[in-house]
Amino acid sequence: MKYISTRGQAPNLDFENATLAGLASDGGLYIPDKWPCLSIDEIRALQNKNYPELATAIIGLFVGQSVASEELGRLVSNAYGNFSHDAIVPLKQLDDKLFFMELFHGPTLAFKDYALQMLGQFFQYFLKKNRCSCTIVGATSGDTGSAAIAGLRGLSAVNLFMLHPRGRVSEVQRRQMTTVQGENIHNLAVEGTFDDCQNLVKALFNDSEFRQRHSLSAVNSINWARIAAQVVYYFKAALVLGAPDREINFSVPTGNFGNVLAGYVAKQMGLPIRKLIIGSNQNDILTRFFETGVMEKTGVTPTLSPSMDIQISSNFERYLFELLAHDSDQLNHIMASFNESGKFTIDNSLLQKAQQSFGAYRMDDKQIKTDINQIYKSTGEIIDPHSIIGVSAAKNSAENTAKNGLDPSLPTVAIGTAHPAKFPQAIKLATGIDVTLPARLRDLMNMEEKVENVDNNLESIKTRIDCFARIHEV
Ligand SMILES: *Cc1c(COP(=O)(O)O)cnc(C)c1O
Repeated sequence: MKYISTRGQAPNLDFENATLAGLASDGGLYIPDKWPCLSIDEIRALQNKNYPELATAIIGLFVGQSVASEELGRLVSNAYGNFSHDAIVPLKQLDDKLFFMELFHGPTLAFKDYALQMLGQFFQYFLKKNRCSCTIVGATSGDTGSAAIAGLRGLSAVNLFMLHPRGRVSEVQRRQMTTVQGENIHNLAVEGTFDDCQNLVKALFNDSEFRQRHSLSAVNSINWARIAAQVVYYFKAALVLGAPDREINFSVPTGNFGNVLAGYVAKQMGLPIRKLIIGSNQNDILTRFFETGVMEKTGVTPTLSPSMDIQISSNFERYLFELLAHDSDQLNHIMASFNESGKFTIDNSLLQKAQQSFGAYRMDDKQIKTDINQIYKSTGEIIDPHSIIGVSAAKNSAENTAKNGLDPSLPTVAIGTAHPAKFPQAIKLATGIDVTLPARLRDLMNMEEKVENVDNNLESIKTRIDCFARIHEV
């Protein structure tokens, strides 16, 4: 399997090196040069596999020669072995055609665990094989940080420094990061905002001497291995609901476009997906794009679904590359004008092509509260303020399908991206109910925290990392 950069200037890499690199050296994103395609019989042959077996088969298609299949099976069991539900991705039925796939049975109760548990295993495996180690630095406003920490804890070849803005993440989010015991995990609470944290991380990467000295790396959402791991659950849900003999839609609460991109990849591989429905909150840059063909930055508003409060979707570049039939020159041109003016437009024929695969809807906070309550009243399910956007987008899409005289009989799977207990205030506002943390997190409030306070200053961060590296060498 060969990986090429969307910007066309970086060297082609195999899976191992694309994973370790994260971002390509030309600023682009790595993507397979061809999709691995499955025939109807090959898809049918996946029907009886459990989740780890399916993950080994599907991820194996992207890994190629980088990991032997037995070894991959071991990495998959390490990644998903401690999930709290036997099905790993249980499916619930909300009405006659609407299903809800719960992707929150991992250690931090959000769907990012499905990718980051696997990514941690790949890092450890490749680094150990090459007898080297690396230092991962990241900035978080809450969610990604805890999933990255849970994915990397205890891995001897990786040290993780996670920066968060001091006093600006919720107590549950902070404790999900700071109570993790592991010599390789370092929480740095920065006296500043999330943007300050992000700027510090960027500055570390821009210091090439420092970057090399510590083999700096990142596990952010553009890493291809994360997308590959996410393709698996699209297959699982479709197979459970009758693929390859029945078509299916997915509805996905979307921010950085990583999750729904994995659905697009599954479709390209031959899974019979009719529509991928994108749900946005008020930060609706993607929904506007799929309606009009214009991608335009308009700033970020805080909402009840903070993990979807994005300005631009970092993974969208991969889809744009596909839409442009892998024309890197045109892509470079578009990205340059987007950086300059905060806006680009695609022509009508490309927009029509995009609209064949994707639908897009948006929801404001008021609607989020109303719909959480309505689903609770009609089904008894409490749905978090991100996942509800997928559920409602699915319902809107079904109404429009029927209105347009199309066949509304296909099942739709709405993807559940977080456990409701992660967002208790929103649930309380919507339903009046106090949700309690699941058993595995109940001790969180009593556990000891490990965190260092640092100034919003590049030198203090570097000193912390240098100091730790020295202790480690002794
Ligand atoms: C990250 C996240 C999303 C958005 O996923 P993308 O892959 O960035 O589109 C949605 N919901 C929750 C709870 C998340 O943590």
